[in-house]
Amino acid sequence: AAAVELQHVSFTYDGARRRALDDVSLTFGAGSFVGVIGPSGAGKTTLASVVSGAIPHHFAGEFRGAALVGGMDTCEVALTDVSRVVGSVLQDIDAQMVAADVEDEILYGLENFGFERSAIEKRVSYALRTAGIEDLRRREISTLSGGQKQKVAIAAILAISPRVMVLDEPTAALDPASSRMVFETLRELNARGITVIVIEQKVALLSEYCDRVIVLSQGSVALDGSPREVFSHS
Ligand code: ADP
Ligand code: ADP
Repeated sequence: AAAVELQHVSFTYDGARRRALDDVSLTFGAGSFVGVIGPSGAGKTTLASVVSGAIPHHFAGEFRGAALVGGMDTCEVALTDVSRVVGSVLQDIDAQMVAADVEDEILYGLENFGFERSAIEKRVSYALRTAGIEDLRRREISTLSGGQKQKVAIAAILAISPRVMVLDEPTAALDPASSRMVFETLRELNARGITVIVIEQKVALLSEYCDRVIVLSQGSVALDGSPREVFSHS
């Protein structure tokens, strides 16, 4: 079954001269672990925004085609409905954090989505445990390393139990060891059935963890296959 389906999606940001995405059709199978790679400006962040519903709900521009998540057409439902199904970790992790400490960061989303009080404590501990950060529960976010912050962002989304998680270069600011730890966490989520779509520039990580790699170039899909197929090509 498809977790996400993009049908002939094109998007041009208001004021831009060319399309950020140009007739992209992709099906992301439920439970898959997909890496997206490509040069700067290729449309990777735009693709993530389409999957998360930020396009068309947040960014102004011309949208064509359709994006279906969990059977919903993102253009026809509210952004909060999309966010229940698709969690996203933005490139600017500091801008995404809303609370002062880790526990509050996780509580914020749960309260926002209106989860019942009785369910909240269970969800917080599940999220901390699954992201492997139970020891960080009481920590101030400003004292955390980049890798720890990524895991907090992942935990805050996990608490909502999305079916799909989209991450925009979660390892960009991380050293190799922390990068691997983030991918180990993603593998753990994926093992629980969450579809993972991650923008990542490090070929070694994509080769080791992903079952599919999509190469974007100038708003189009240039290559799409297993890591072996894609990387033997270049
Ligand atoms: P990356 O290549 O790592 O995705 P960019 O440098 O392309 O990052 O973009 C950084 C930020 O600037 C993003 O939030 C993106 O939406 C925004 N941005 C990129 N290009 C433009 C543009 N031409 N006009 C306005 N905002 C832009
Ligand atoms: P990537 O993530 O692969 O670097 P992006 O999706 O950020 O690519 O950008 C794709 C194209 O869209 C680029 O030409 C970029 O300049 C443009 N773009 C991105 N964000 C904006 C924005 N907010 N406003 C206008 N143009 C943008």
